[in-house]
Amino acid sequence: MDRVVEQREGPLPRRPARSVRVGGVAIGGAHPVVVQSMTNTDTADAAATAAQVAQLAGAGSEIVRITVNTREAARAVPEIRERLLAMGVAVPLVGDFHFNGHKLLAETPACAEALDKLRINPGNVGRGAKRDDQFAQIIEIACRQAKPVRIGVNWGSLDPALLARVMDENARRPQPKGAAQVMREAMVASALESAAQAEALGLPGDAIVLSCKVSGVQDLIAIYRDLAARCDYPLHLGLTEAGMGSKGIVASTAALAVLLQEGIGDTIRVSLTPQPGGDRAQEVVVAQEILQTLGLRAFVPLVAACPGCGRTTSTVFQELAQDIQAHVRQRMPQWRLEYEGVENMTLAVMGCVVNGPGESKHADIGISLPGTGETPVAPVFIDGERAVTLKGEGIAAEFKAIVDAYVARKYPRRRTG
Ligand code: SF4
Repeated sequence: MDRVVEQREGPLPRRPARSVRVGGVAIGGAHPVVVQSMTNTDTADAAATAAQVAQLAGAGSEIVRITVNTREAARAVPEIRERLLAMGVAVPLVGDFHFNGHKLLAETPACAEALDKLRINPGNVGRGAKRDDQFAQIIEIACRQAKPVRIGVNWGSLDPALLARVMDENARRPQPKGAAQVMREAMVASALESAAQAEALGLPGDAIVLSCKVSGVQDLIAIYRDLAARCDYPLHLGLTEAGMGSKGIVASTAALAVLLQEGIGDTIRVSLTPQPGGDRAQEVVVAQEILQTLGLRAFVPLVAACPGCGRTTSTVFQELAQDIQAHVRQRMPQWRLEYEGVENMTLAVMGCVVNGPGESKHADIGISLPGTGETPVAPVFIDGERAVTLKGEGIAAEFKAIVDAYVARKYPRRRTG
């Protein structure tokens, strides 16, 4: 019998979650899914870290996390904040604390003051009896300074005492579960028990965000489904150690897309390993594109382009597609200020007459380049109508001018007051 697949129009409604304010950004509730990223500079180098935070924020990261691992790093945090303010960058900053967070925060109160959120890993707060005491010290500082906290569990640093307890409980079951399932249970337990502990210490429930990161796609999906069903804290999604290049992008997209489609996830980070000397902001672009291609948010006009085939053997249309995507990304910071709704614009760059005119008509602006042996002209379609035909050497420049003029005409900012 054929399997009947229910057709849905888009993502399920977001799971109800509390709203947590992080600086000027809200996570959870009815707020849009927030894009985050993390620096890879030495935080003690305030100039380099502020520059990278500004770069990530410029690329669209709405919250940026920095590691705070040493006394020098903790002391640099207020200077990073000052440098960002001097650059006109108001992006919320999150401090990432492991092992010595309680000490650093107590020694340098200005560090917590300059941060908008603290991230702690319940598996790296301390061992044995010290664990609860050091966890409490951090939560008390967060309460005193009115800072929200992300309780970020990571399977690479799961609290061994908690894992042992969950394994013992499992062994006593009539039918014990497998090792992977027990690990997933332990991660969810670590997040929920730490959150309950933080609330018992006085941290308000609407100052807590949870995450449970693993590097396996199916594990991540299972863990977050469980977590989403068992609490109403906002959830930070991310596949940890996703990897480099296409592997990292595909794995992150596969995991995050399934959860976001189910309405799970209030903020996301794509943890890509950059190429040596590569662009750290790529993780921001990928996170935005995941949300935009799912229809959850729009950030930058996206360019549809055909893959090319034997009907177009030149690289002209590939170059034009790349050129136009770079053009809109480069223009977007200014467009965002001057024009309203421009991020929803759609563009198409097509390689020949087979699908070119059809696809171009579906975009706000589309161009169909000549394939091999076709008349060397490129019809441009605007709002579904053939508007002009370009030819000659200046097609790219003329097409960009058409796009710029269309933006100015179609997306004027509505005046208020
Ligand atoms: S639009 Fe033309 S060039 Fe592009 S993939 Fe289709 S047939 Fe090939």
